[in-house]
Amino acid sequence: MLEIFGKMVINTFTIADEMLQDVGVAVYTSPSVLDHRCWPNAVASFDGRNVIVRAVDDIASDSLSDVFLSYVDTLATTEERVQQLEQQYYFTCNCGRCQNKQVEMMMSSTEGSNPGDLKMVKDCLEYVERMRKEKATSKDILVTYEQCLNKVTLPSTNVFLVRLIGKAFDAAVDAQEWETALMLSIKNYKPYSLLHHPFNPCVGYLLANMGKLLLLVGRLSEAFIHLRKALENFTVSLGENHFLYQQVREMMSQCQAEMESQGQDGFVSVEQTR
Ligand SMILES: [Zn+2]
Repeated sequence: MLEIFGKMVINTFTIADEMLQDVGVAVYTSPSVLDHRCWPNAVASFDGRNVIVRAVDDIASDSLSDVFLSYVDTLATTEERVQQLEQQYYFTCNCGRCQNKQVEMMMSSTEGSNPGDLKMVKDCLEYVERMRKEKATSKDILVTYEQCLNKVTLPSTNVFLVRLIGKAFDAAVDAQEWETALMLSIKNYKPYSLLHHPFNPCVGYLLANMGKLLLLVGRLSEAFIHLRKALENFTVSLGENHFLYQQVREMMSQCQAEMESQGQDGFVSVEQTR
């Protein structure tokens, strides 16, 4: 019984819904034939209850043993990833990413911050979890995150700060505070592009959100540029049949139509619009 349970846990993939947010777990057998790397050369996305695996790098071999997925969030520290993999998948990861001290330094850096900043961010993340359980409003949650963000001076690549900004972004979207949400998404773009694989769908999702928000606040040519970058990412990471790919295409058409109605040609650079 324990052995069967162990295998089930090992073969459990976190299901993300079409917006790439975790909605639960289910048991899959086939993707688990693919091994783990913390810097994978393939990504899994979900189409209903099917898992679709797409390569994000050129893979010369046609052997499945050369295709790697990440079983964990690649924006976690090495210590967190190793611990999660040991607890959930019963192996100790020692991949190239886990040995890359430079990346780890970026993810854990507190350079230039005040003593206690990192603790403040971690405490804030925990505090908001309690607020959520007590059914606090998105607006109150956003204010709590903003108070913390105004105090700390951690480097933008610190993954705890990245996490807090990501959660503050979700609260800002829930509270329909578009300008704040846009500002928060811009803050996380640099660490995302430095720490994620360029074709990680999370990067595409962030770009799509930036594009959508820029469209909402009427910054059309910038919106178009970000949506186009999101589409480039999704073409590789999710494929043209994916719901998010289709949604970005629709937003691009909408953006193009609005630019045409305002006499813009859609290819104005960001600098020219300022
Ligand atoms: Zn690893």
